[in-house]
Amino acid sequence: MKRALVTGGSGGIGAAICRRLAADGHHVIVHANRGLTKAAALVAEIVAAGGSAEAVSFDVTDRAAAAAALASLLEAGPIQILVNNAGIHADAVFPGMSGEQWDSVLDVSLNGFFNVTQPLSLPMIRTRWGRIITISSIAGLTGNRGQVNYSAAKGALHAASKSLALELASRGITVNAVAPGIIATGMIEGSFDAETIKKLVPMQRAGQPEEVADLVAFLASPQAAYISGQVISINGGMI
Ligand code: NDP
Repeated sequence: MKRALVTGGSGGIGAAICRRLAADGHHVIVHANRGLTKAAALVAEIVAAGGSAEAVSFDVTDRAAAAAALASLLEAGPIQILVNNAGIHADAVFPGMSGEQWDSVLDVSLNGFFNVTQPLSLPMIRTRWGRIITISSIAGLTGNRGQVNYSAAKGALHAASKSLALELASRGITVNAVAPGIIATGMIEGSFDAETIKKLVPMQRAGQPEEVADLVAFLASPQAAYISGQVISINGGMI
């Protein structure tokens, strides 16, 4: 049984990833920021289904808090599967974008990647086996109006994943990004109606969080040992 940390496990995609990794037999650490109650409920659900899980909460933008929480988790052993999934968006056309909108999105996605991945990297290296999977977005590949901040953060995660993949390749650790299109979670509520989705997505529907989770679970599996440094899209044929 491997220990897997899923940041933003309290959210839509993160919860689906937690359920799937638990079903695959991993011990899942369900991370939340403000939604610890949701994470705890998910842990209870996983345990009731015969799986193994625990909840943890910290703000990924708070480097000291993240380091302290991760150090405490590492006392129980290494974390060999990391899914960097926590993310926010704060959309605005660029001339109207505030510094706060810019900073907050970069802080959660990009600084959050560093604050969580860096402290886990050496313990993972010591085990000579690991999976680091980061949830980015189609916006990081194509750009998107009103999302200069979000696209910048997600595109940077692609570059960071590729560089880290090169550093860790000889240690049995793969590093990949998963770039979803439109996935049916709270994050897109109010952003896209059914008609807009039909126009934007060749498959004419939003993706399900479980579909993203299936891809993440494959990348986390031993079968995906030779896939590293990749950005893998899951978007119903949008690009
Ligand atoms: P949700 O809004 O449902 O979940 C977001 C998660 O991120 C929550 O668990 C939230 O924790 C966590 N989070 C936010 N801010 C922080 C923070 N400062 N510190 C720690 N955790 C934080 O979104 P989704 O499930 O839809 O999105 C998950 C990922 O997928 C994101 O990275 C998103 O950018 C990406 N994505 C989503 C798409 C979609 O269509 N839904 C498309 C492409 C990419 P809490 O609630 O506990 O505060």
